[in-house]
Amino acid sequence: MSTTAEETKTGFEKKISTIFEDQLAVSHQLRKSTVKDRIKKLRKLEKQILHFQADIKQALYNDFQKPAEETEISETWVVLTEIRHTCKNLKKWLRPQKVDTPLPLLGSTSKVIFEPKGRTLIISPWNYPFNLALGPLISAVAAGNTCIIKPSEFTPSTNVVIKEIISRVFDKTEVAVVEGEVPETQYLLSLPFDHIFFTGSPAVGKIVMEAAAKNLTGVTLELGGKSPTIIHKDAKIKDAAEKIVFGKFLNAGQTCVAPDYLLVHKDIKGKLIESLKTTIENKFQSGDPESTPYCNIINQKNGERIKDIFRDAVDKGARVISGGDFENNDKTISPTLIDSVSDDMRIMEEEIFGPLLPIVEYDDLKTAAEIINRKPKPLALYYFGSSSKDQKFIVQSCQSGTTAINDCVLQFTNTEIPFGGIGNSGFGNGHGYWGVRAFSHERPILKQNTVFPSSSLLHPPYNSFKNLVS
Ligand code: NAD
Repeated sequence: MSTTAEETKTGFEKKISTIFEDQLAVSHQLRKSTVKDRIKKLRKLEKQILHFQADIKQALYNDFQKPAEETEISETWVVLTEIRHTCKNLKKWLRPQKVDTPLPLLGSTSKVIFEPKGRTLIISPWNYPFNLALGPLISAVAAGNTCIIKPSEFTPSTNVVIKEIISRVFDKTEVAVVEGEVPETQYLLSLPFDHIFFTGSPAVGKIVMEAAAKNLTGVTLELGGKSPTIIHKDAKIKDAAEKIVFGKFLNAGQTCVAPDYLLVHKDIKGKLIESLKTTIENKFQSGDPESTPYCNIINQKNGERIKDIFRDAVDKGARVISGGDFENNDKTISPTLIDSVSDDMRIMEEEIFGPLLPIVEYDDLKTAAEIINRKPKPLALYYFGSSSKDQKFIVQSCQSGTTAINDCVLQFTNTEIPFGGIGNSGFGNGHGYWGVRAFSHERPILKQNTVFPSSSLLHPPYNSFKNLVS
């Protein structure tokens, strides 16, 4: 007796496919939902997030000792801002766009409408587990889609809170949270979703894209990479040091847009290093360690990976300027500055994703640009320096997903600009208008009048058309 595909499904496959099937009918209903309906849901989500603020902070603390203040700034505040910005602007963003009519189509009218893609999947990483699961969800809901969220398996406490919040706002036939590791994720990826929004590493991004190709599902890939940070000779050194220390050691360096390595002009290198050291001491090494705003590495495996990168650099001749302490099974790593690094070290080859900051010296901006362009296109590029001409030179010489001049990381928080990578750092955009676009199909509709003879210009025997082109 032959077995059916249904009978050979494992427990989790049955559970996931039931949710996926149940979301189909709802996705059809949501096509007819109004902007008002969607805003109502987002406001409900906002209310629940506010209600669960203390639990969110506790959950992130449980998962990797993330300080409450950092959780507020980089998780809840970012998500609440995204909801408020979306609710304020959604009507305008989804308004059908009227377009002009070319001469041969005279008599017809055309417009572009923005409709939901349908059933969508969000796969999120562990480093900002709340923000990177709910941020894209806001766009998916605003655009009128159903959604399954697959959060990272490394943040179990945060996932509990996410599940609770979602279950209070949505029925799981509309938005469901499916936890799991690689097998569960790969099963999800085998299903014919209408869009997949993936945030994670370039290596897994390739797996996602390959799986999506089997169903011709569209993808947004928000990936990582080595984000260079140039500090030119005319930079304001103390200001640059303070911003770099914030951007690099926020979340203990586990930030996709953290400065990965510094390129420093030789004339100011000594002064910059002194300023970085002082800033690190002031922010992280004075006062009560209990109240120091500095989190752990997500798990021992990642701590060991960072330690291996560190040892490889030291073994090959790099010089540790400050930090370099690995404690608590390598899960607590001090903010670390490293000089004399070279291209053959892992620290200059791989995305560090931890609190190690290598420093490379350069003579002229052209050399700095060449160093950047030897590596895959990064998610972020930062430039500190006052000359507009030099700023323009770097922007034109080096591509990156996002850029900030005389600051770092904050470009992520401006809801008015798109956020996404290029090349190895991904493609497609999230945030605000751009996020809603990622989850919408831009559908053109041409409406012909039936009163006057119209497109006959383009019909056989084509004599009128010949007059048009001549
Ligand atoms: P990851 O790629 O290992 O995991 C991301 C998600 O993919 C998780 O939900 C995980 O369960 C799933 N996954 C892991 N292996 C898989 C496999 N073989 N098949 C299917 N699914 C799989 O990334 P991570 O370690 O959670 O996060 C760190 C990476 O994410 C870094 O590279 C960082 O730069 C990047 N990142 C990018 C952004 C962005 O917005 N561009 C934001 C945060 C993190």
